[in-house]
Amino acid sequence: MTHRRKRVLIVGGMAGGASCAARLRRLDEDADIVVFERAPYVSLGSCGLPYSVGNVIPDESRLFVASPELLQERFRVEVRTEHEVVAIDRARGEIAVRDLRKGQTRREPYDALVLSPGAAPLRPPLPGIDLPGIFTLRTLADTHCLKAWIETRHPARAVIVGGGLIGLEMAENLVRRGLAVTIIEALPQLLPLLDAEMAEPVSRHLESNRVTLHLGDGVAGFESRSGGGIQVWTASGVPHPADVVVLALGVRPETTLAAAAGLEIGKKGGIRVDSSMRTSDPSIWAVGDAVEVRDVVTGEWCVVPMAGPANRQGRVAADSICGRPARFRGVQSTVVCGVFGLTVALTGASEKALRRAGICGYQAIYVHPASHAGYYPGAKPIHMKLVFAAKDNRILGAQAVGEDGVDKRIDVLAMAIQKQATVFDLEECELCYAPQFGSAKDPVNMAGMVAANVLRGDMPVASWEQLSGTQAIILDVRDPDEYAAGHIEGAINVPLNQLRERLRELPRDREIWVNCAVGQRSYYAQRLLLQHGFQVRNLSGGYETYWGWNP
Ligand code: FAD
Repeated sequence: MTHRRKRVLIVGGMAGGASCAARLRRLDEDADIVVFERAPYVSLGSCGLPYSVGNVIPDESRLFVASPELLQERFRVEVRTEHEVVAIDRARGEIAVRDLRKGQTRREPYDALVLSPGAAPLRPPLPGIDLPGIFTLRTLADTHCLKAWIETRHPARAVIVGGGLIGLEMAENLVRRGLAVTIIEALPQLLPLLDAEMAEPVSRHLESNRVTLHLGDGVAGFESRSGGGIQVWTASGVPHPADVVVLALGVRPETTLAAAAGLEIGKKGGIRVDSSMRTSDPSIWAVGDAVEVRDVVTGEWCVVPMAGPANRQGRVAADSICGRPARFRGVQSTVVCGVFGLTVALTGASEKALRRAGICGYQAIYVHPASHAGYYPGAKPIHMKLVFAAKDNRILGAQAVGEDGVDKRIDVLAMAIQKQATVFDLEECELCYAPQFGSAKDPVNMAGMVAANVLRGDMPVASWEQLSGTQAIILDVRDPDEYAAGHIEGAINVPLNQLRERLRELPRDREIWVNCAVGQRSYYAQRLLLQHGFQVRNLSGGYETYWGWNP
């Protein structure tokens, strides 16, 4: 009896598809593995495209993680570039593939089919959206078009529509190319994944790097300008002249093939898969930007178009096809973005995401520790927010912004969330320390200690959000010069070092909300006052956080 080799066909040869193909070969030396890719290449590091535009990566060949030849020679994976899969015939177990060079279509049988077709950039049907000079950035061809426009037309002004991750990366890279950049964002904040107050330092940083921000007002349309260029109109009627426009409005999962084949599509618009990345058809798996999966914190279905999940899902699908009990745990939206030397990172749920999911009973604290020991040169503040469940003390999410050490703190917290750790675990975690790398009390420990203080009742907190409606006395315990440089309206100033002697000036019949610069001196003041019988709350994160709420 002859043994028929299993035939696995993969649609899409980038992050999800290529990782699936390579893993399949490592698990099954016998299988026939064929990757069909519409583009003339595979394994493009799309995440590097903004830096190719900015000439940080001048040699485009460096953007390729693997070539068709490498996949063929090292893994015996057959790669057919410039081949578009145009239909799936589930009943016969076949796909129809068009050879884009020859214009011919042929059928290919499969035992297992993996869909990794990615996502398409959003291009809403606004007036003038197809004018020359308006670009999206998804493929290498998009990058070529944008770079050619910059190099031949020498534009002076760019408008970026959308203030998300790619919008910010493009802002940095277009400034690098000498353009004056404006970001237009419909929401009143940049980086919609962040809670609004955490996005505030990012806005300030961009403005200090001469990026003009137009927030809270979406783009309504585009017109050609009589003197050349494009007029970008916002919904409120504000014109923004531009010589080049980049649309960075997000993506939608590429589900055309899957939907036409009758595979289940979820409410968020992605292909529905189970935890082994299998679709509603047991012979078809789907991975990457095209699928929707569960959010590990909120439990909701979500689409998180990021390279890490796509790669891991490709592996899980390969394991599942080879009969291994693989399981994708879900996503927790761990994201990092660098812009003009500032790092912004988050993991898990924001307060916004928890509210959207109808989850209550969480608390948030803010800390602003230095990235490493203050006495060692170069320490920079990290603005950090930790969100945790009051019921079981579990960490639900973290956000951080700063110039140094942000990514490593968020990585630690990402792992903590995956392991369902509590804030008490953060108090105890033992992390790298020497003066140039961290502090004996690392920012992660510090966030855990502050949250644990809240949960133990040692540090009742008030949120800056509640400030406008409170009857409490606001006590500012910073030094008089700090107070004079700016304080909350109506706050009284008793510096921490004088507090013990001036207790009689404070009321016992009203709550006292205490603040300092970052929340540490106010915590010392609070402990002192609580032990003298006062009712005290700490304004978490101090005046530094107040700025986030009151830009
Ligand atoms: P894709 O990489 O989109 O690949 C899908 C492939 O399928 C495409 O090449 C497409 O041509 C092909 N295809 C589609 N339909 C067919 C068909 N019918 N037949 C044949 N081929 C088909 N993620 C991060 O985690 N960090 C970052 O910093 C980051 N930066 C990014 C910056 C940019 C500018 C972009 C565009 C993306 C960035 N991402 C980032 C997202 C990341 O690149 C994607 O999450 C990842 O590439 C998804 O992999 P995928 O395999 O699902 O899809």
